[in-house]
Amino acid sequence: MYDRLQTKKIKIANKYIGNNNDILIQSMCNTKTENVDETINQILELEKAGCEIVRITIPNEEAAFAIEKIKNKIHIPLVADIHFDYKLALMSIDRGIDKIRINPGNIGDENRIKEVANAAKKKNIPIRIGVNSGSVKKGILKKYNSKITSDALVESAIEEIKYLEKYDFNDIIISIKSSNVLTTIDSYKKFAEKYNYPLHIGITEAGTLYQGNIKSSIGLGILIYEGLGDTMRVSLSGNPVEEIKTAKLILKTLGIRKSGIEIVSCPTCGRTNIDIISIANEVEDKIDKLVKDKIIDENKPIKIAIMGCAVNGPGEAKDCDIGIAGGYKEGLIFKNGQIIKKVDEDNLINELMLEVMNFYK
Ligand code: SF4
Repeated sequence: MYDRLQTKKIKIANKYIGNNNDILIQSMCNTKTENVDETINQILELEKAGCEIVRITIPNEEAAFAIEKIKNKIHIPLVADIHFDYKLALMSIDRGIDKIRINPGNIGDENRIKEVANAAKKKNIPIRIGVNSGSVKKGILKKYNSKITSDALVESAIEEIKYLEKYDFNDIIISIKSSNVLTTIDSYKKFAEKYNYPLHIGITEAGTLYQGNIKSSIGLGILIYEGLGDTMRVSLSGNPVEEIKTAKLILKTLGIRKSGIEIVSCPTCGRTNIDIISIANEVEDKIDKLVKDKIIDENKPIKIAIMGCAVNGPGEAKDCDIGIAGGYKEGLIFKNGQIIKKVDEDNLINELMLEVMNFYK
């Protein structure tokens, strides 16, 4: 693993992004922001799952008016996503938003950019510039023969940064995302050679749960491994809570968040006589619920094994704290590689969960 890139430390509400601070996990609500209760409920769900920064869309004044009500009920920094309307950016700043996502090049008039930069500066609110394949301006596109290359994306990012730097605004966080994983990686690497603004990393329009998880894991995994990334978002066409689960797993897999609960399961084979796939999924759901409901502490590490047979089960999963190994209509419960009981298939999950609860007593 490479050393982390030393980026600028930027404050967002009660948290810090950049430098050697934790890589913060973020997501975005898919509710209509003006549906305040629905938005708050989704944010609270995301918080429970481990979200550390959350973004909401501000497409109209009604949404901007909702900011205060939402902020009063949540506990993590709130980011306003603004497309181009500088008035909505100003309204959001006035109503206590913690960070703005806007591309100054979309605002238009220079005075308006200045107004937004000054208002954000006055309230110590950072701005994230988000460059992606769709936001590259015509002039840059022409220069690169209408191809979205990493150079084109980086040039776009630099152009956007200059709009803010011109007004002495430097609390900038930058994202340069493409739906192409390799272009994204290349863009962040090239940008990081030139600037030390904190990096919000992600693969844009990554896709559905299956495709998006794979693309995001490869892209974000490589970037983080190479020391790039101060805050991350896994973009999925799905429930945003899934984005948090994936982001946490990426960080855990890379050893960045050391603590945690790990469930390993065998791929099944001709020796399997019980429904290991359903059992593994059910155990995962039960553990997730226990964590969300704060019944077990995910900071206390445990490794749980779900294995299909006793031939390889306890032996292969020796390093696990607790596990099950399937038999024919029955299964074994084992602890640290030692078999402790034999139970019917129907009781396997319950017995395993009892042992998990004992572990946390
Ligand atoms: Fe097959 Fe047993 Fe290995 Fe699972 S643990 S893959 S059932 S040999």
